[in-house]
Amino acid sequence: MKGRVAYIPTAHKIEFHEYDVPAPAPGGIVAAVTQTNVCGSEVHMWKGEFGRRGVMPGHEMSGRVHSLGAGVSADSAGVPIREGDRIAPVYYTVCYRCANCVAGNHSACTNKTLGARHPDEPPHFTSTFATHYVIKPEQQFYKVPDNVPDVVASAANCAMSQVYWSLDRGRLAYGETLVVLGAGGLGLHAMAIAKARGARVIAVDGFDLRLKQARRFGADETVDMREFADADARGKRIRELCHGWPDVVLEVAGVPEAFLEAMRLARIGGRVIEVGNISNALTIAIPPSLITFKSLEVVGVATYPPHYLKKSLDFLEQHIDRYPYRELCDATFPLSRAAEALDRSERREITRAGLLAQD
Ligand SMILES: [Zn+2]
Ligand SMILES: [Zn+2]
Repeated sequence: MKGRVAYIPTAHKIEFHEYDVPAPAPGGIVAAVTQTNVCGSEVHMWKGEFGRRGVMPGHEMSGRVHSLGAGVSADSAGVPIREGDRIAPVYYTVCYRCANCVAGNHSACTNKTLGARHPDEPPHFTSTFATHYVIKPEQQFYKVPDNVPDVVASAANCAMSQVYWSLDRGRLAYGETLVVLGAGGLGLHAMAIAKARGARVIAVDGFDLRLKQARRFGADETVDMREFADADARGKRIRELCHGWPDVVLEVAGVPEAFLEAMRLARIGGRVIEVGNISNALTIAIPPSLITFKSLEVVGVATYPPHYLKKSLDFLEQHIDRYPYRELCDATFPLSRAAEALDRSERREITRAGLLAQD
């Protein structure tokens, strides 16, 4: 049986390479991809921002078990698994041996491994813009709850698991106030999880659709950046809404100014969680004394410990009907039209594109 894998050799060009679908390694799995999504990093790849070497796009997916390797009868949580079952994998592996893994902070593993750089490298299917995906023996994967559709499950292994972990790293507790700067995908997932743990949530954004979505994903209050145009005005408004200062501020707007604003917003002794800024090229001048005199805790979070994907899928099983998760993906394309999905994502005509791989 043949399958196809996408490769981006250079900006705005995508190729599909065909190979025999391999047999799974002992302890591993070969999945048939059902849905994979255009996430921010694929748009960066499409624009050629990952250097001159080619890249293999795709890390978010849901799929079905195509074939089980020898000895595999359960997912990474011990739930029995058979061929045809719906699953979602973590898109990287951690080593469980480095200083961070041993200390329990697997998201900061110093030996994380991702897929290959070129699909010619066996076992070929190591990224998810593909008809199939090879799950390594040491890679975590989980069965998808029956009531969680592929369109939702396919995004659980990225934004959702990352903000779930970031709220834990920021120790957001019952009764605390969380300010979320940016009501994109990361922000909306954070709002729903924060509400479920009994926090009060204030969302800040400047677009009608995103403010509306924030309320639908559980925000108690929203602050419109068009109405409160500078950081001082927003701070004043947020303190009015809190009757004081917020305990925790999550930065998911992805601009350096928002990081500074987060530190200004948090209460003395509060916590700032930085997730959104991912570009080395974007900088801002920051007075470090702000951190000193406010006794701030600043926590940076990239990825998540692999088992957070299980926690995300469990959360979705419980809350799938409470929040409009299905709407987070606003366009789907067959895998063969990935170029169109990437172009339209780059032009921001669509927020989240899904690719249906079994076309
Ligand atoms: Zn490690
Ligand atoms: Zn992603």
